[in-house]
Amino acid sequence: MPDIATIGAALSSIKTATDIAKFLRASDLDFEKAELKLKMADLIVALADAKIELVDVQELLVEKDKQLAELNEAFESKDELIRFRDAYYKLDESGEAIGVPFCLRCWENDHKKRQLVNDPQARAGRICTSCKHKYEGRLTSEIFPNPK
Ligand SMILES: [Zn+2]
Repeated sequence: MPDIATIGAALSSIKTATDIAKFLRASDLDFEKAELKLKMADLIVALADAKIELVDVQELLVEKDKQLAELNEAFESKDELIRFRDAYYKLDESGEAIGVPFCLRCWENDHKKRQLVNDPQARAGRICTSCKHKYEGRLTSEIFPNPK
């Protein structure tokens, strides 16, 4: 997984390439052919390194875009859930909690809606399908609409 330091490495490779090019421009062209070829090889290596590092930077940016999209989605749906006892729920027309319980931990820590299901190992317990956090069933029960 590339990180921000990759940008520094890419910039360093580009600087090396630039320095070599400047050196070649400023030099007499009385170079031995072998010496010139060596400098050109260094230049190509530096540019190739920079290219590889920039591909890593591109991956990093794609990953960051994905995270940003997830956060935006979570932010937009922030008002769609309400806490009731030990879980989060959707709201009915009058703003009351309704429906299946969502994991308190996942919602508050990661802004992710994860349903709680019956815990097969605990009678009347519930468990998060994602983080496996356990909840007491009576504090996280499904809320059914009141008959009108
Ligand atoms: Zn969870």
